[in-house]
Amino acid sequence: MSTLAPWRDEVEDRELARATAQLRRAIDDHQRVVVAAHVAPDGDALGGALALHLALTDAGARSVPVVGEDPLVLPSSLAALPGADQVRGQAGLPPASEVDLLVSIDAASPDRIGAASDYLDAQVPTLMVDHHARGTGFGDVRLVAPGAAATVQLVAGLLDELELPVTPSVATCLYAGLVTDTGRFGHASTDASVMEFGARLLAAGADHVELTRRLFDERSIEELQLVGRALARLTYVPDVALVHTHLTHQELDASEGELADTEGIVDLLRSAEDAEVAVVLKPAPDGTWRVSMRSTGQADVGALATAFGGGGHAAAAGFSATGEQDELIGRIVAWLRAR
Ligand code: 5GP
Ligand code: MN
Repeated sequence: MSTLAPWRDEVEDRELARATAQLRRAIDDHQRVVVAAHVAPDGDALGGALALHLALTDAGARSVPVVGEDPLVLPSSLAALPGADQVRGQAGLPPASEVDLLVSIDAASPDRIGAASDYLDAQVPTLMVDHHARGTGFGDVRLVAPGAAATVQLVAGLLDELELPVTPSVATCLYAGLVTDTGRFGHASTDASVMEFGARLLAAGADHVELTRRLFDERSIEELQLVGRALARLTYVPDVALVHTHLTHQELDASEGELADTEGIVDLLRSAEDAEVAVVLKPAPDGTWRVSMRSTGQADVGALATAFGGGGHAAAAGFSATGEQDELIGRIVAWLRAR
């Protein structure tokens, strides 16, 4: 039994053939490939990038996994993924003159890959692999399928086209993307084809027990303290069914924790019974706010984020902003009232 994945119809045969040819050439000619996950990588971006990196390396390409940010801080839940120790940050990016191919994973626009977007300016051939419905798009070859529950499904599709094996390490990385982007197989994007893909990854040897524990069941004391602080000041705005909170830069500075420790807060907020929209303002190291948003109903937070200069999906989106916390929340509330 096999269910056709909905994203299959969204990818043009011609584009898939071009992507496959690009990667085939990279393998056959031992090319230098940079595989870039988006900045502040989540399980889908990092898992997809590492899966492709490991498979290309095994096949003979000279692959480098990167996240174009400085400093590079991988969330501890993802730092143990196979190959994560090889990920380079902005300071370790190979010079463009030495790069034959850039592959971008889970990023809808150039700014999302941070400093790795310099390769675009330098005209390095680029393959974009993504599942966001919104974004400017970029690259010579674009595999974009909003119907994919996770970008790792597209990565696996490429590995199949290339007839590269899904080793246990590759399967673990792919599973990291699938289990996080589907909300542990709970979001509406989870269909029979997602479950079949998950089953295939388990059969291939994905280390799902240890991975799931790290991703969802292990938090540092510092993280729990930050979560507690954020939850303690949770605020509800009834007319727009918004639940919001924030952590200040001073609070994060005074804590042993870091920005990555605040990732889970928005999903706790969205579990509030009456919430339709959840918003968390998180203190970024550069002094700005990283705004994380979730919708459990009709509100399209992807449209909201886009209006504020960011992007994302209808149900999960984000942007960066400056200014006072009250004023920013006020503008978000005004957008929700006006829609
Ligand atoms: P998170 O709240 O987990 O950081 O982000 C949720 C989703 O929103 C991400 O998967 C990504 O699609 C999108 N997103 C978050 N921040 C940004 C941003 O600054 N720009 C864009 N374009 N998308 C973002
Ligand atoms: Mn994704």
